[in-house]
Amino acid sequence: MRKRLKFLGVFLIVAIFAAASLTGAEDADQALKKLMDGNKRYVSGTFLQRDLSDAKRKELAKGQKPSAIVVTCSDSRVSPELLFDQSIGDVFVVRTAGNVVDKIALGSIEYAAEHLHSPLVYVLGHEKCGAVQATLDTIEAKGKPEGNIGAILEKVMPAAVAANKKGGSKDEILEYAVKENVKNTSKEIMEKSSIIQHLSHENKVKIAGGEYSLQTGKVEAIELTAEKASHGGHEKKGH
Ligand SMILES: [Zn+2]
Repeated sequence: MRKRLKFLGVFLIVAIFAAASLTGAEDADQALKKLMDGNKRYVSGTFLQRDLSDAKRKELAKGQKPSAIVVTCSDSRVSPELLFDQSIGDVFVVRTAGNVVDKIALGSIEYAAEHLHSPLVYVLGHEKCGAVQATLDTIEAKGKPEGNIGAILEKVMPAAVAANKKGGSKDEILEYAVKENVKNTSKEIMEKSSIIQHLSHENKVKIAGGEYSLQTGKVEAIELTAEKASHGGHEKKGH
């Protein structure tokens, strides 16, 4: 009898853990769907009515629970709240030119994942990114960028080098570098953040990535290469 109870206990613990991790994965999938559904509305011009009322502000003042962390470029044409048709309190945004991450950006991502329990990190690059283009230009001119811009280009450099190696027209090289840069950023988040690694292994956080088209407004998924990063992700086309 005692043995049986012990077995039942172990079974229950395993079941509870399995259910918890499943919920985490489901939350991330839902968060991803929420972003992609919002992008579809943005593209078709059928935005949701945003609740920006005094009551909503007061409710959010008590606490935030953003469903996704969006890491994207500072480019004025790439506003995540608009292109994903989200409202206040919906997305925790980290923006740097070229959507690269340093310690401060990583700390921001970790804060949202660990303390606000956002289940999804979405890395969003975009068509004709100026930071990526500037990095390619630097290679060509073999010059040195001014001021602190070099710190950004240094981060984008591996993607630019890979794109140059692959070759093609100038547009093709830029396009390839933008995609590579999204992959590298997601890889860096996973490699340099033990908190995200840990949450990912516990199925509490997923990383996904995409590219925003300046022309059409569409976000297309990018298959990530980072270990435990894409988890199958979403389909390549169709949103
Ligand atoms: Zn950009």
